Parts: sequence; structure tokens; C-alpha cells
Amino acid sequence: MDGRERGHVRVAVIGSGFGGLGAAVRLRRQGITDFVILERADAVGGTWRDNSYPGCACDVPSHLYSFSFAPNPEWPRNFSGQPHIRAYLERVTDIFGLRPHLRFQSEVRSLRWNAEALHWEVETASGSLTAEVVVSATGPLSDPKVPEIPGLDTFPGKVSHSARWDHDYDLRGKRVAMIGTGASAIQIVPAIQPDVQRLTLFQRTPPWVLPRADRRISAAEKWLHTKVPATRAARRGLLWGIREMQVSAFTKRPERLGLIESLARNHMKKAVKDPALRAALTPDYRIGCKRILLSNTYYPALAQPNVDVVTAGLAEVRGSTLVGSDGSEVEADAIVFGTGFHVTDLPIAKRVTGVHGTTLAEEWKDGMEALRGATAAGFPNFLTIIGPNTGLGNSSMILMIEAQLNYLADFMRQLDVLGGKIALDARPSAVQDWNRKLQQRMTRTVWSTGGCDSWYLDANGRNSTVWPGTTGEFKKVTRQVDLAEYEVLRPPKPAGSSTGERAEVAV
Ligand SMILES: Cc1cc2nc3c(=O)[nH]c(=O)nc-3n(C[C@H](O)[C@H](O)[C@H](O)COP(=O)(O)OP(=O)(O)OC[C@H]3O[C@@H](n4cnc5c(N)ncnc54)[C@H](O)[C@@H]3O)c2cc1C
Repeated sequence: MDGRERGHVRVAVIGSGFGGLGAAVRLRRQGITDFVILERADAVGGTWRDNSYPGCACDVPSHLYSFSFAPNPEWPRNFSGQPHIRAYLERVTDIFGLRPHLRFQSEVRSLRWNAEALHWEVETASGSLTAEVVVSATGPLSDPKVPEIPGLDTFPGKVSHSARWDHDYDLRGKRVAMIGTGASAIQIVPAIQPDVQRLTLFQRTPPWVLPRADRRISAAEKWLHTKVPATRAARRGLLWGIREMQVSAFTKRPERLGLIESLARNHMKKAVKDPALRAALTPDYRIGCKRILLSNTYYPALAQPNVDVVTAGLAEVRGSTLVGSDGSEVEADAIVFGTGFHVTDLPIAKRVTGVHGTTLAEEWKDGMEALRGATAAGFPNFLTIIGPNTGLGNSSMILMIEAQLNYLADFMRQLDVLGGKIALDARPSAVQDWNRKLQQRMTRTVWSTGGCDSWYLDANGRNSTVWPGTTGEFKKVTRQVDLAEYEVLRPPKPAGSSTGERAEVAV
């Protein structure tokens, strides 16, 4: 340990987005106050701190995209914008007394399991500490991905990524190239189109886009939600129920999604009159295979005279000339990458070294997998929030986060019940069994059969990101820790093995 040693804590939480803050609240509710939240940035908020690009907003109604234990009757719109969601997370931090636990500018650089002491050795940018339990809430959409484009370093203009917007750079009057057509790109395009001189969209694959049922939430609704909390709960319940009913079409009967495709086609037809442009914007894969996007302004923006759509990816940069993979050439002053994040190659996985001296990234070289989306074999007392196969195609990730917080709470309870210095390590057979069943279910889903290549799939084409069921089912299977799925580690006896003693638990 260096001179900046921070000592020992019961729990180290990494990240202060919805996942990390939620974990902190659950720990406090459980009576656990001996924990820190290690955050690399200098403020809470995660996704909603880092993504401040023009037009950034949620795709799930706010009354569902918020903690069930921290309702907000004051949401201004159906789909609130980034500033409101960020402010909400700041309020959650204050209301639940989380400030004293926060350690900003504390990027976690390495985590190493100490088998003798049965704890994690944590190295951060602000010092070292040890922790009995680590909760990794570093977020699957947290580390921006910029593709390696030959010649990008020769570009004389501004290069940025949607998740690291430079508000000091003025796009007005500039020739801007937007790379990508994902959820961020389709919010940025209509937000900047009126101001830029020329906007060129490099589209490898067109997204399916549906209307966005957004509107201001009236003062009367807010009043009602404040005075009669049951109305707020009913609103949330309705939003949740509708989305639960949609799941089987994604997971079992993708052919039923054809009707939604007609809706999306009509939506485009209303805004885009040019048949050639419409053809270019029409996807050739089943709706839902990639994330379905919601926007009322994307298609109208693309139909404007100062916008061009290049139906190819960006292949090369030669100075200020951008070359598409179809050979087209475009001059630009600024490039905005809306190219997503390191989702199936989570950066934190390279930094965690477990029982066998290997990193999580090495263990996951053929694809990420965890038990109930949370724990990996050989990484005792290490839980991931929004781990492998916990993503959703159509509902609120906060529901999945809260289910995982239940699992965390029970994990902590089990450690208390078993007593003494102890660690729980997922059995390899339990992890394999969970993932075999999960992947079997995956074969029928739209993500596997829909005919697209998406960020849900890893380099091997395996879906290691999405949950192939309802959020209700996930909540049920994460309610309790099944001790039969874990090995219980106790400290080695003085002359014993150096890897900690493994004991069977009678349950
Ligand atoms: C633009 C955008 C829009 C989205 N819209 C929706 C939506 O409409 N509906 C939906 O359900 N989901 C949406 N999501 C997904 C969203 O990421 C999740 O809903 C949720 O916010 C994830 O929370 P999190 O706490 O797990 O991760 P994050 O919010 O990403 O937080 C992770 C935190 O960990 C920190 N961190 C990372 N690595 C380290 C390290 N090594 N050391 C210390 N700190 C570290 C980061 O700085 C960050 O603060 C969206 C994501 C993006 C990017």
C-alpha cells in the first residue's frame, strides 16, 4: 500500500450512476454504512453526467425510468431530457445521505483477490484500500468506442464522440459528419441540423424508428401525483405492464413484430417524400433486432436540403476529406462519432484479477458470462450491476438494476448469516448451467433471428448482453441467492492451502 492508503471497508462500490447509487442506498437500508463509492469523474450521474450532447434524452418514460424507492412526481415530460435525469440523481445522492461515501477522482485501476485475507485489494487513482465485497457498477455504456479509421489523425478539424461533447466547440455554420445511426446519433442529428452548414450522415445500417409519444406532463398531473401517490404508482405500473406484454414478441414470436414495422414505415413516409431517400433509410432486417429508436424529428431533419445520407460507413480520412466504404468523398470541418461503447469488452474486466491469477477479461475471452447477471466463477464477493445478459430491448434498465440490488442485499445477508470471515464464489457448474439455458432461449429471439449485426452480439456473434425474458421474471430469479450455486470460502488454516478453504454448505 502506498502513503495514500485508505484502509479497509466492508464494501467498495465502483461507479456512481443509477447502478452505483442504487447499490449504496440498498446497503444503507441493510444497515451497512461501512462502504465507499469510487467514481473516476468528479460528480455523480454516470450516463446522465457524461452524455450531454444536444438532444440527449431518455427513450423510456421517466415515471418508469427512475427508482421505485425514489419517485419523482415532478418529472417535466414523458421522456425527460438529460439535465433533468442528472438532477434527479444528484437529489437521490442528497436525500439518501450518500455524499460522505463518495470518493471522486478515484478511477479503479486494479482489483486483486487476496486469497489469504479473503478480501479485494483495490488500487485507485486516489489511493489504495481493501474491501470484503466489491460491487462493480461501471456501466455497460460508459466507455466510448471510436473505430480505428485509417488517416483519422490527418483530419485538421474537430473530432468528438457523442458521450464526450465539447460544449466550447461551436458547430454553427460548419460542415459536420455524423458517423453512426444509433440511439445517440438520431437525437443529435435533428438537434444540430438547423445550425450547421452541411450535415453528412454516414449510415452503415438504417435503424427502425417509431414515433415518440412525448409531451409535457401537466401541472394537474404533477399535483395529483404529489397528493395521491397511488396515481403515480398506477402510472408506473401501466408503463411497466405494457412493456412486459411486448416481450414475448421479441423473445418467442419475432414474426409478430411485422405490424410494428408497418407503423415505422408509415412514420418515415410522412416525413420523407423522396422515394430514393426512403429506400436508403429502410432497414432490411426485422424490427427489434437492433434497438428500436423513437423520434419525431429524425426523419424530418434528414429530409432537409442541408443533409446528405451516405449509405456506407466511414472507411478512411484524407485530411479534411472523408471517404466512405462506397468510395464517396465528403469535405468536413467536424466529425462526430455516434459509434457507441465498449459493451462486450468491458474495460473493468481487464483490471480484475481473481482466485486463479487471471483477469475477468481473460476468463471472458470467448464471451462474457455470469450467474444471474451478477457473479463470475473465480471472482469471490465480486458482483456486477448490469452484468452479462441483463440488458433490455424495450423497457427500463432501472428495473433490472433494482432486481440486481435485491440480489446484492441477499448476498450481504447470506454473508452475515454464514458468519465470520467468509467469501462466496460462484460454482463454475452453476455459471455454465445458467448460461446454457439462457443461450438456448436466445436462439428464438429477434436478436438472433432478425438478420442484423448489433452491439448486443460479441465478436463471436454470441448475445452476451440482453436478457431473453420479462423484467418480472428477472426480478423473481434474482430475489434470493441460492447457496447451492456457491462455494463458501473461509480463510486457510495456518498450514493450509494458499487459495482459501472451500467448504460445502448444507442448505
Ligand atoms: C445516451 C444514452 C441513453 C440511454 N437511454 C436509456 C434509456 O432510454 N432507457 C434505459 O433503460 N437505458 C438507457 N441507457 C442505458 C443507461 O446506461 C442505463 O439505463 C443506466 O444509466 C446505467 O447505469 P449504470 O450506473 O450501470 O452505468 P453508468 O451510468 O454508465 O455509470 C457508470 C459509472 O461508473 C464510472 N466508472 C466506470 N469505470 C470506472 C472505474 N474504473 N473506476 C471508477 N469509476 C468508474 C463512470 O464514470 C460512471 O459514473 C442510455 C445510455 C446512454 C449512453
